[in-house]
Amino acid sequence: MSSVLRLIAIISLSLIPALALPDTGSVLAGCPTLEATDSAARASLMQYVCYYSAPPGAPGHDATAPDQLPVDIEWKPAHGRDLVFSHTSSVYWVHLDVRNSGTERAVWYLKLNYPLLDEVTFWQTANDTTETIATGDQRPFASRAVDYRYFLLPVTLDGGETRSLTLRVHSNGALNVPLSFETAAEVISGSNHLTLTHGLFYGALLVFAVFNLLLFFSSGTGYYFYNAFYLAALGLFLFAMGGFANQYFWPDNASFANTSIPLSLSLCALAMILFGRSFLEIDKGTIPETVLKGQAWFCIGFLALALILPYNKTILLNTVLALTVISSLFMIAAIRWQQGYQPAMWYLLAWLIMLVGGLIYALAAFGYLTDFLAREALMQSAVGGQVILLNYAMVQRWRLLSQKLLDVEHSARTELEFKVHERTAQLRNTMRELEKANRKLSTMSLNDALTGLHNRRHLDNIFPELCAEARRTGHPLTLALVDADHFKNINDTWGHGFGDTCLQFIAEILTRHVKRPRDVAIRFGGEEFALLLPGTSATGARKVCSALLADIANTPVLAPDGTEVRMTLSAGIASLAPGEDQSQLFERADEALYRAKSEGRNRALLSETSEVE
Ligand code: GH3
Ligand code: MG
Ligand code: MG
Repeated sequence: MSSVLRLIAIISLSLIPALALPDTGSVLAGCPTLEATDSAARASLMQYVCYYSAPPGAPGHDATAPDQLPVDIEWKPAHGRDLVFSHTSSVYWVHLDVRNSGTERAVWYLKLNYPLLDEVTFWQTANDTTETIATGDQRPFASRAVDYRYFLLPVTLDGGETRSLTLRVHSNGALNVPLSFETAAEVISGSNHLTLTHGLFYGALLVFAVFNLLLFFSSGTGYYFYNAFYLAALGLFLFAMGGFANQYFWPDNASFANTSIPLSLSLCALAMILFGRSFLEIDKGTIPETVLKGQAWFCIGFLALALILPYNKTILLNTVLALTVISSLFMIAAIRWQQGYQPAMWYLLAWLIMLVGGLIYALAAFGYLTDFLAREALMQSAVGGQVILLNYAMVQRWRLLSQKLLDVEHSARTELEFKVHERTAQLRNTMRELEKANRKLSTMSLNDALTGLHNRRHLDNIFPELCAEARRTGHPLTLALVDADHFKNINDTWGHGFGDTCLQFIAEILTRHVKRPRDVAIRFGGEEFALLLPGTSATGARKVCSALLADIANTPVLAPDGTEVRMTLSAGIASLAPGEDQSQLFERADEALYRAKSEGRNRALLSETSEVE
């Protein structure tokens, strides 16, 4: 920040000798009479103007009319240069003689192209009569001869008449006396062109401000409001600087004419801070935020001071403040840009232009820039450029935000899609596992875990169906109940484990003998088995059972202690009789088994009521 201020100081100092007129050391020469009808002579008015500077205490400082001036004062010719003096407490007297060498009576205007002068008094003397106009910022606007933001003194000259014009100028702050001598047509055309440019400029500022205010109301985003505030403050400041505010806003309030400039300047600085802080997204508690907060309090303090302290002090304070604010915002934006915050680049560009504008203003405020119109145009271009760039920066910021929003939305959607896929896959897996488990469960529920044969539940399921089918088709259905003989002994002798092995062995033999596709072997109790043989007669079943029994009896099983154990089975066989249901069939088979047991075991007997082929 200090380097920027130093730069400003260097530029300002280098401009002083070039642009400011020295108060002393001028070469004395005559002040020729201006030929009012000669447009070329009018264009080089300053060749005809003489001036006299009266510092406090000098003769002429306290004089209030030309006739109070000492007769021997030294008038200095302006030598074609504009009368521009930086801050001074001197009173300036300006003298010009004009002649109308034509024959017609005509009106010209002596125009003072600088609106911000505290006291301006015109005298025009001809034939010992003197007309006076006392005006300036410190008097109501109506005191001006013409309702115009600059000072216009109408000079009416009869054919051949010569008049002596004297001006007394005194002002707080920069004292610029840029003069021109114009015909009414020239004043009007110049004013027209300026009215158009000013209208465009202030109109654009107003439109931007209102637009930003509307954006704020519709979006609630703070920096739109701050931007509108900034545009309004900036507009007010330039309006005051351009003399328009005196003309239109407070024409009767003379004391506010001066105060309004530092006041609107501190408002401007405050608005810049508020807008910058919000636009650059400066985090709370950081150094930039602390700096800006401090400066904001200064702005508020200076606002109050502008109402209390004299103008020449407050304008100095506020100019330094504004330049400090602009420079610090410039540096903070540079830091933010370096941190990768893209919209800061446009803001930086805007501020670069504003820095130039600020310098122009500062030079102007202290009287180092001569051409008021050129300066105003430069300031307006700088402000216009800055406003456009700032608004572009806001568009960029908005784009960045919406891009971020889109990215977030996109990644959220992708993540969601991924999760849905993942969940679907998980669900499909679970379903598959569930199906597998279900299948296992249903096999488990219909099969015997030890032997792998069907179990009692399966028997209960298919037995009624097979009976119904046999009745319908007339085909035989035979049930053989098979029971291991003295199985308890095996358990008792070699243990339960070996008993299980024997049961598995029996199941294996059973499966081997029950070969037809529709035959079913079932373990329906501890060592009790059932064979359901559709399409097989009782005799056929007895054959199967006999072969089975022989196989078991002839195949020894090796016990853990090395003993060859030979088991025997008993079987009871019954075929479904007409009109019989499954429980009756079961009872008959059971009865046959019982008989087989009681007749000595290791045999297969037919139910006594079974038909034998
Ligand atoms: P019977 O010749 O009169 O049929 O005599 P048994 O000993 O075979 O008849 P009982 O009904 O008195 O005994 C059956 C035995 O079968 C009782 C039990 O120890 C045995 N048993 C039943 N289920 C199992 C089993 O799942 N595993 C084993 N190891 N033994 C079983
Ligand atoms: Mg038994
Ligand atoms: Mg038994």
